[in-house]
Amino acid sequence: MLLPHISTSSPSAALVIAGGCIRRGMHIYKISASSHGQSPKPLRYAVLGAGFAGLSVTWHLLQHTSKESHVCIDIYDDVGIGGGASGVSGGLLHPYSPKVKPLWRSMECWEESLKLLSIAEAAVEPNKLNGGSQGLGGHDSDDFIVRRRGIVRPAASLKNLDLMNENAQNCLAGCRIESVDKEAAERLVPNLSVPCNLAFYMPEAVNVHPQRYLEALYSACQDLVKDTSVSDLHRKELNLHKKTVNNLLELSGEYDSVIVCMGARAASLPELSERLPLRTCRGVIAHLQLPDDIRESYPQHGPSILSDAWLAIHGPRDIRLGSTWEWKSKNYSQNVTVEEALKALEELLPKASAIYPGIKNWDYIAAKAGLRAMPPLTSHGSLPLLGCIDEYLKGKQTCKFWLFTGLGSRGLLYHAWLGKLIAQAVVSSNEDVIPSELIAWKSRMK
Ligand SMILES: Cc1cc2nc3c(=O)[nH]c(=O)nc-3n(C[C@H](O)[C@H](O)[C@H](O)COP(=O)(O)OP(=O)(O)OC[C@H]3O[C@@H](n4cnc5c(N)ncnc54)[C@H](O)[C@@H]3O)c2cc1C
Repeated sequence: MLLPHISTSSPSAALVIAGGCIRRGMHIYKISASSHGQSPKPLRYAVLGAGFAGLSVTWHLLQHTSKESHVCIDIYDDVGIGGGASGVSGGLLHPYSPKVKPLWRSMECWEESLKLLSIAEAAVEPNKLNGGSQGLGGHDSDDFIVRRRGIVRPAASLKNLDLMNENAQNCLAGCRIESVDKEAAERLVPNLSVPCNLAFYMPEAVNVHPQRYLEALYSACQDLVKDTSVSDLHRKELNLHKKTVNNLLELSGEYDSVIVCMGARAASLPELSERLPLRTCRGVIAHLQLPDDIRESYPQHGPSILSDAWLAIHGPRDIRLGSTWEWKSKNYSQNVTVEEALKALEELLPKASAIYPGIKNWDYIAAKAGLRAMPPLTSHGSLPLLGCIDEYLKGKQTCKFWLFTGLGSRGLLYHAWLGKLIAQAVVSSNEDVIPSELIAWKSRMK
């Protein structure tokens, strides 16, 4: 067979021919049957879901496919960008757990997440690249994508105190944990309740406006498509389809690879139903505002607060209060009925006033909810589920299928680095680039 001339940035890499494709190093090039003089067919990828997982994968697919190939990415989401848990998430991001120490590969996860946040910010506010002029100083207006004001966690019990102290001693250089006494904690947030006289302050932790972030990340992907499309032969295409995917096989003939990033709803696909070790858990978040007649607002530079309930600060008069944990729920709708909202407030307000009594002055505005996809606990903690899932399609498919779900309650921490890893696995058609801990769920399910 005559092969078209293919240039690559890694000339020394080995050539492997398989299934009408040429592999050179990390890149796969598709060739047509009678290739001489014809352009290579585009590589076509389908990404199912436009949440943290799906958009991170999309960004990294665009980054990791060769500049010399023609690549087409179709994103499918029946609700649209941020239509699942990501769009309503609390947006709190830090690399620690009050229960486990240290979190698995927290350094890589943390650094990649910050990088992706900056990329998204730069897409809508170009002076923000790498933190930009306001970088670590933070964004003072309420229309932020990333609010860099830190997070404070008052120690709630002696057990919690010991673990956090250990975390503080071994904290990451890029996200310090400072132990602060009651007085210092109250300087951060006046009237904060500090029952054990000690709080842990993470000055570099951030909170993200999830919907704005996702839209900005999608803009960054569109910009990358424009910047890297140098000719008809070497161009990238990106399409967002507002469409429900009912099963995987319906996509099989059209794509080279399909990446399932459907969050908790991945388990509803017939090919995956009963085969994923996921538990679902619905969470409600309330939006509260301070009425105009209350003068004393939340400090402009004050951190968000973590405890049994958390307060994600969006502005001095604007906060999100979360969240509830309704295990086994299958309700993925973001909409919350009046009854569900009242029940959530009944649960959340006492917990919030235990740490921030001033919450009683705030008015309820609205509530939203999302369904978490909770992965099982392993010796490495609760890790997302990644990997190639071709074996679940019983050889009926003509393309490769991949899974990226189970981000649990740490979607922001996991989405960037793991999205990069799965994109690299897809582009190189090689599952081995994914750490074995993340694909071990497959052997446990056999
Ligand atoms: C109440 C709550 C608070 C949270 N707070 C935080 C927090 O503060 N920090 C943090 O890091 N994480 C938080 N999380 C967790 C975080 O939201 C999730 O880990 C993350 O959103 C999962 O992202 P995902 O892309 O895997 O799934 P999702 O965001 O659920 O995305 C899946 C997408 O797929 C689409 N989809 C599903 N099925 C189909 C189909 N059949 N056809 C087409 N499209 C489909 C959906 O519309 C959706 O947009 C919170 C979660 C909840 C519920």
